[in-house]
Amino acid sequence: MTSKCSGCGCSLPEGYKPCYGDNKHQKIEKPSRHQGMRTYRLMDNPEERRFADAWEKNNGNLLAHILDDRYYQGGHSPEPSDRDCLVAATTIQWLGTPVGRAFLFELGYIKKGQNDG
Ligand SMILES: [Zn+2]
Repeated sequence: MTSKCSGCGCSLPEGYKPCYGDNKHQKIEKPSRHQGMRTYRLMDNPEERRFADAWEKNNGNLLAHILDDRYYQGGHSPEPSDRDCLVAATTIQWLGTPVGRAFLFELGYIKKGQNDG
């Protein structure tokens, strides 16, 4: 299926963004299953982004293994549901918020460099 590009008027293949300025038609990335609910916050909150990016980047099968012990017993942990992924990613991102960081601080965690001096 195609639609008309609002930038150049060409026949835009499905899954591509319309062009604008010097930006050519870019493929629309499929959202990762390991992104939380409030990704709009990541633009203005670098610590939330750090937590969210680290979780998304390092996840692999981590969540599956956290939620189900079969992997540790030599088996195969089932795929987490979309809801499992959403809850985990949202919670990890929350740890990067001021409230989340205060939570970690109360438990004795201090970001490297913050306890110097
Ligand atoms: Zn175009």
